[in-house]
Amino acid sequence: MTDRLRLAAQALLDRLTAVHADPAYESVWVVSQMHVGPYAGPTYTEELDALRRALAEPAPCPECGHDAGHHSWSVDGWLCVEAGCPCKRKHTDG
Ligand SMILES: [Zn+2]
Ligand SMILES: [Zn+2]
Repeated sequence: MTDRLRLAAQALLDRLTAVHADPAYESVWVVSQMHVGPYAGPTYTEELDALRRALAEPAPCPECGHDAGHHSWSVDGWLCVEAGCPCKRKHTDG
């Protein structure tokens, strides 16, 4: 996942979590339940949990895909320490 994708996915996840917890949103479900009973339509719980788990994993290096923690700082920038990896990431954000 690229940094941009990760940020966008995290923002969506945070927003969905906030919406789900909002009293105004919850009241929609209360009213719906009173009129048509418990909701039995499609849900996205599993997909949302999968996204949450994916985002909880360490961010991979956007250059080579190896764990960002497998990079160490040198005068040339961030170098990947995975054997044979040619990544020489010129980033300062770790
Ligand atoms: Zn790398
Ligand atoms: Zn690498």
